[in-house]
Amino acid sequence: MADVLLQKVRKNYNPALLKDTLRNINLDIKDGDFIVFVGPSGCGKSTLLRMIAGLEDITDGDLMIGGKRVNDVPPSQRNIGMVFQSYALYPHMTVFENMAFGLKLKKMDKEEIRRRVVQAADVLGLEAFLERKPKALSGGQRQRVAIGRCIVQNPSVFLFDEPLSNLDAALRVKMRLEIAKLHRELNATIIYVTHDQVEAMTLADKICVLSPLAMNPQTESNLEQFGAPLELYNHPVNKFVAGFIGSPKMNFLNGVIESVSEDKCVVKLSEGEKVTACVDARRAQVGDKVTLGVRPEHLVKADSDKADGGKISCKVSVTENLGAEFFVYMDCGSSEVGSDFTVKSDCELDVRPGDNMEVGIPSTACYLFDEEGKAFPRTAVYKRS
Ligand code: ADP
Ligand code: MG
Repeated sequence: MADVLLQKVRKNYNPALLKDTLRNINLDIKDGDFIVFVGPSGCGKSTLLRMIAGLEDITDGDLMIGGKRVNDVPPSQRNIGMVFQSYALYPHMTVFENMAFGLKLKKMDKEEIRRRVVQAADVLGLEAFLERKPKALSGGQRQRVAIGRCIVQNPSVFLFDEPLSNLDAALRVKMRLEIAKLHRELNATIIYVTHDQVEAMTLADKICVLSPLAMNPQTESNLEQFGAPLELYNHPVNKFVAGFIGSPKMNFLNGVIESVSEDKCVVKLSEGEKVTACVDARRAQVGDKVTLGVRPEHLVKADSDKADGGKISCKVSVTENLGAEFFVYMDCGSSEVGSDFTVKSDCELDVRPGDNMEVGIPSTACYLFDEEGKAFPRTAVYKRS
């Protein structure tokens, strides 16, 4: 097992175009950590993973695995196991043969191969399938064989690139739990790419949020934030992370600063309502343009005593009842252009499309961002009860 350290890592696929895919990536991954990379499609998640594996050159910077600089070490000598979205098993080989294949190539002793395959099959619940061919397995079982093929190599770091995205919803949930168990049993360092919010929040010790450099070509780095899931949820450093972590997405409202104090700030929204937010915005001036953020799951009824931040009025456009959850999508004059204002409620709300609805905002549920998108520190964190 091993630490993975990235220092000032840069990737440029085409130096002639001067366009970087990744810039100034610094990550300190401790032995045994479960790290998740998230970010919009094309931001460089797979590229970063492939650079760690050695399948892609590193343009600049250092990659250290287990304390050793490995920029120029070939993939086969990095002791890394990689699992992709497509599992690419050999169709003519049994599960046992598929898992044993890499070890056979290394001319490992037959008994040792058997021992490792049986042990991996045990961890993955594949004992009963060792003599089957891949076509006689379900998607989840095939993906487990692909993981098993990796486990038998006894790598010091596991890399997973969206391993569950080809599976149906129910199987994804099952495999997600299995991967969590696997991490506990193997105690391995895992770096995992996903676009699934739940996988990121539940599996990760730390999440790394990347943004596409094309969106902001002059930026110093496209690593937006690296931290524990709840740290990112509660204290996103900027609007990008705030909008990316959490589902449904955070609501953003346009406004200006009306007044500031040590632990509170009053924001006047573009439609005129005033909202008190528990943030320290003393670095800003009265009149500065800001964006107020509130998560759909933190909004309350306008007459609730939790609505101490203020209330806003909206017009309901769509409702969705999922049984356990109820969503209301609304038009709100202060919302960013083109985005709905969303409420997520545990219970059914008595509203219909076309209704006017007042929504309450707890002051501790507010996030606030300056014109550049940088977050003001929150002075309290909302607790649902
Ligand atoms: P993600 O996995 O986050 O969706 P990728 O790492 O696959 O993103 O791609 C990041 C960017 O790098 C994209 O703009 C993609 O077009 C570009 N890219 C990926 N692979 C190559 C390559 N082999 N040559 C040139 N550009 C590439
Ligand atoms: Mg990818």
